[in-house]
Amino acid sequence: GREWQLAARPHGWPTPADFALVEAPVPEPGPGQILVRNLFLSVDPYMRGRMNDAKSYAPPYELGKPMQGAAVGRVVASEAEGVPVGAHVVHGLGWREYAVVDAAQAAVVDPEQAPLSAYLGVLGMTGLTAYVGLLRIAELAPGETVFVSGAAGAVGNQAGQIAKLKGAARVIGSAGSDEKCALLVDEYGFDAAFNYKNGPVAEQLAAAAPDGIDVYFDNVGGEHLEAAISSLRVHGRAALCGAISVYNDTEPAPGPRNLGLLVGRRITLRGFLVGDHQDLRDDFVREVGGWLREGRLRYRETVYTGIDQAVAAFLGMLRGETTGKTVVALPE
Ligand code: NDP
Repeated sequence: GREWQLAARPHGWPTPADFALVEAPVPEPGPGQILVRNLFLSVDPYMRGRMNDAKSYAPPYELGKPMQGAAVGRVVASEAEGVPVGAHVVHGLGWREYAVVDAAQAAVVDPEQAPLSAYLGVLGMTGLTAYVGLLRIAELAPGETVFVSGAAGAVGNQAGQIAKLKGAARVIGSAGSDEKCALLVDEYGFDAAFNYKNGPVAEQLAAAAPDGIDVYFDNVGGEHLEAAISSLRVHGRAALCGAISVYNDTEPAPGPRNLGLLVGRRITLRGFLVGDHQDLRDDFVREVGGWLREGRLRYRETVYTGIDQAVAAFLGMLRGETTGKTVVALPE
């Protein structure tokens, strides 16, 4: 089977030369393990951080070793009780065709309930991130006005839709193209959307939310965060989910210049990691699964096909060339 290895640590934007697709022997499962033929790989923004040699919440990828990431696949050999050959599992050893996984580190999923790729997105990590960030971290209340950045991406579109489903009065999204903004309003039911490349974020946000916002779901950081702080009302909350605008910076970006507003307006900025909130998974699957079945929540995926396309998928996602959840299909 083939696997992607990190060949060099990127400085700034990664390039294809930083990665190598390598042929590796198909490993055999030991006691308590399963051999999985991966069918979909997830590409996610946090992977950029793991390419740096820097201490963070996830350890750096090692040079010359297979990279890791979420994947869903079919069990083709099993030495583990309860996870038979033919079962489908989500696990953390992506970026490769075959993986030997400790069964305890794999979650069995049902392809009858949802397409397999959905377990990486709308019913998986990015979906849970939207749910946790909006409901637990930002504590959205009905009637509030919400702003979501990165709104046409995997986390963002779902955060905006969940806000509406939970009774937000008005949901505004930002994205990097006019087509994505049209999608936000026409398909996902946002009340307004603006293209952050068309002008200063603060001006466009103030125009879309003249009375301010109560909740900001931050996927982008930088100029977006500063603009949102200026628009947050008294007792406003921001869920700090990610800061993709700075992930490829080689120098630390300047922080928001308007933190002085936090005191008087009693604003909360709160960072979070989805991994700390697995206790909400059952609620999330029940609620989001229900909305999907009822047709009240929509999702899109951008699918690249073939393991050789994994780096292109990752870079395309970082550049904003994709919408919804970006995955790599590995057909058999
Ligand atoms: P997306 O599907 O949203 O893909 C990334 C998007 O970022 C692109 O589509 C692009 O859209 C946008 N983008 C890229 N560069 C910029 C920029 N300079 N300014 C503004 N937007 C930009 O990815 P995810 O939904 O998987 O992740 C979204 C965010 O959530 C990321 O910040 C990620 O790190 C974070 N995250 C955090 C988690 C947590 O536990 N805290 C868990 C999962 C994700 P566009 O065309 O609009 O520019």
